[in-house]
Amino acid sequence: MALPVRPRTIIAGLTAGGIGAGLLLSRLGRDIDADANVPSKVFGRGPAFVSLPLESEEQVNHDTKRLRFSLPNPTDISGLSLTSAVLTMSWPKGRWAPVARPYTPVSHINEPGVLELLVKHYPDGKQSTHLHSLKPGDKLLFAAALRGHQWVPNSVPHVTLIAGGAGITPIFQLAQGILSNPDDKTAVTIVYGVNTNEDCHLTKEFQKYENEFQDRFKIVYTVSRPDEKTTLRKGRVTKELLEEVVPLPKNGETKVFVCGPPAMESSLVGSRKETGILEQLGYRKDQIHTF
Ligand SMILES: Cc1cc2nc3c(=O)[nH]c(=O)nc-3n(C[C@H](O)[C@H](O)[C@H](O)COP(=O)(O)OP(=O)(O)OC[C@H]3O[C@@H](n4cnc5c(N)ncnc54)[C@H](O)[C@@H]3O)c2cc1C
Repeated sequence: MALPVRPRTIIAGLTAGGIGAGLLLSRLGRDIDADANVPSKVFGRGPAFVSLPLESEEQVNHDTKRLRFSLPNPTDISGLSLTSAVLTMSWPKGRWAPVARPYTPVSHINEPGVLELLVKHYPDGKQSTHLHSLKPGDKLLFAAALRGHQWVPNSVPHVTLIAGGAGITPIFQLAQGILSNPDDKTAVTIVYGVNTNEDCHLTKEFQKYENEFQDRFKIVYTVSRPDEKTTLRKGRVTKELLEEVVPLPKNGETKVFVCGPPAMESSLVGSRKETGILEQLGYRKDQIHTF
């Protein structure tokens, strides 16, 4: 997941200053909402600075946990726009500076009362180690929402979403947002590349979409180090695979979204030196988006 310039600036700004003001504003805002007892959006356009308790945790494979946080009131919703991440902050022991990292919720952006993250643990990772150490009742500070590509329903008839590993979270959020909106008729194809079979996440949710939206949702898993008995495709996300499973529509009307490790993103999207696979397949630069 390459961090785009704007979120980087936001993270730096929020980390460097404004924490006190944010906390104060957030505290005032929360009291007003609680008094009025009306459903409210936890994340707006500015700083949120809200501490949310962990409600439950689930280890979903050897390195990934699903962490479910409670919003301040059961009727609150996240208020995030499609697509967005949330900026989390913590103060690891022995460090003077806080650690700020974005994560993309996998709970529906309008689900009342909860915010769910799917977090991969990196052995030396500061924030992912902290998040994996949280126990129910522990609190995590959410500093702000980070808006990604703002999806416009029905802007194209079909989208291709390509995820690598932990990059599945924004891809899932987008697919979930499209498919749960009865007014959005966009067809969705996901190509999901993982290292091993057990790295395939959110499979129950994807299976449900496959059953419910047979005419307009498809997911293709490809595993680079598969189990012997795997029924999934083998290998990485290649030009040949994309040509076969998501051919560019004849009228060219489509968009493609990519989120994965840097090597995968640069092979698909390209770099200053090399044209990426997607452009080689005929996608225009303005049709290709990363998170
Ligand atoms: C917009 C956005 C949304 C994101 N959403 C999610 C999400 O929903 N779930 C999720 O798990 N992550 C997500 N990430 C990644 C997340 O923000 C952190 O970068 C990640 O958790 C690592 O942070 P850390 O502090 O644990 O590791 P750091 O302390 O920053 O890094 C320590 C070491 O861990 C390894 N490492 C760190 N990040 C990566 C990586 N991406 N690939 C390979 N090795 C790495 C490296 O060896 C690095 O030297 C998102 C990133 C962005 C930009």
